[in-house]
Amino acid sequence: MMVDLGFVEKCESWRLESRFFPSKIGGKPAWLNLKNIPEEKNLHCDYCKEPCIFLCQIYAPYEDNENTFHRTIFVFICKKSECSISNENGNLKVFRSQLARVNEFYPPEPPIEQNDWRNDISVDQWVKTCYVCGILAPNHCSKCKSVNYCCRAHQIYDWKHGHKESCDINQKISKYSKLLFPEYEIVIEKEDAKDENNANDVSEEEKEIKKYETILQEGGAGTFQNEDVQNELLSMANQKEDETFSEFRSTIDKYPDQILRYNRGGNILYISAENKIGEIPKCSECNGERQFEFQIMPQLLNFLELENALKCIDWGILAVYTCTKSCVPKNGYIMEYIWKQDIIEGNLDNTS
Ligand SMILES: [Zn+2]
Ligand SMILES: [Zn+2]
Ligand SMILES: [Zn+2]
Ligand SMILES: [Zn+2]
Repeated sequence: MMVDLGFVEKCESWRLESRFFPSKIGGKPAWLNLKNIPEEKNLHCDYCKEPCIFLCQIYAPYEDNENTFHRTIFVFICKKSECSISNENGNLKVFRSQLARVNEFYPPEPPIEQNDWRNDISVDQWVKTCYVCGILAPNHCSKCKSVNYCCRAHQIYDWKHGHKESCDINQKISKYSKLLFPEYEIVIEKEDAKDENNANDVSEEEKEIKKYETILQEGGAGTFQNEDVQNELLSMANQKEDETFSEFRSTIDKYPDQILRYNRGGNILYISAENKIGEIPKCSECNGERQFEFQIMPQLLNFLELENALKCIDWGILAVYTCTKSCVPKNGYIMEYIWKQDIIEGNLDNTS
């Protein structure tokens, strides 16, 4: 089983622009299709009704399909802590976009990694985007007319966080608003290739797990007596939970900094035996099946500079499911399915 792992790296911001087809975290989305980008109503958080903020994007072409020569998945999340509800996905949105090699936005040749190479290729050439969050912006500040917004909530946010001062003097504003997550590149590496460097660690780890599993199996069955039955059942449930979590931990312990596991058509690595994913809705465009594509790991939370570590957005894992055929979007972007699994209370101590 080949799993690709994603790791966070600092990177000059020009390398993370659309023209270089990046995988990245934070900042504004580096849109693939530069024209038909999502608007506010596509990104409403189910709970607070404000637009979700860009979390990350993964550049993941299908090599055997001419319509997916370029292909990127975009993930958004509501930043409000009260919208982060255990094992509920209403604060998350995911979109897929793809392009053939010959398309109206990019040259067919691979990009040249230089700051000044084709920097005319930009979403700004096609549509206006929100200064605060980077999605489609039908509105602008009526006084200076120089700043665009996706919705009233983001206009108010910007007014309170700097535009009140810069509006009159028409001062050049910074590129990024404070509502965005810090920007990083996601670097992809093969899990197996990295394994070789750590062969000794892995076998030690596996021995440890085997030992643990044997203890669980021997202690599990056939010893119920009277009033102990309840307790026994309870502890068996906990053991089942521990088994899933222990497998999760042993798998990621090999590369503890991984923020992404990419395994298209493969299996999800659950963090808990509770609240596993249920029925996956069919593709909204072609009504075909969806398959697992990748999962975002809890380690990503460490890079988001969240203001209050105890009361903020949270997840165990975020699992993204996409159209198996990767059908052609009629309008630039198709909403795909994302599931949030959280860890049960009792295991919280073990994650750090
Ligand atoms: Zn919300
Ligand atoms: Zn906005
Ligand atoms: Zn203004
Ligand atoms: Zn489809």
